[in-house]
Amino acid sequence: MMSHGKKGFWMKNEHIMALAAQLRQSLQSLRGRIDQQREGASSRIEAAAEQFGHPQDSHAQVTTARELALAMTELEIAELNALQEALDRMAAGTYGACTDCGQDIALARLQASPEAARCMACQSAHEHPAH
Ligand SMILES: [Zn+2]
Repeated sequence: MMSHGKKGFWMKNEHIMALAAQLRQSLQSLRGRIDQQREGASSRIEAAAEQFGHPQDSHAQVTTARELALAMTELEIAELNALQEALDRMAAGTYGACTDCGQDIALARLQASPEAARCMACQSAHEHPAH
């Protein structure tokens, strides 16, 4: 089947399948990790608070530990969204094309991080915007 003029799916089907499997696997293990963290969050916070001696300081330490746990979870949720969006792009047939410039993303880049939405140039522009 030819797909002239359509972005994405320029890769061999076997590559797409392998990347899809990678994405699903990452998604699954990440979900497991987040669930585990939610269950273990309060006991981890208590354990962290106990390590910091003085009782009068414990409130501040508990707050710090909780903020750390939340920040970690936020990162993981962002990763989860990136993985989910990659699967959505696969379903939509736009996977493999940069979401910014529309150019094909290098296969090596996708194999290293299958959730990549941008090509190298756009990603670095995104992370380090020119002032
Ligand atoms: Zn780009």
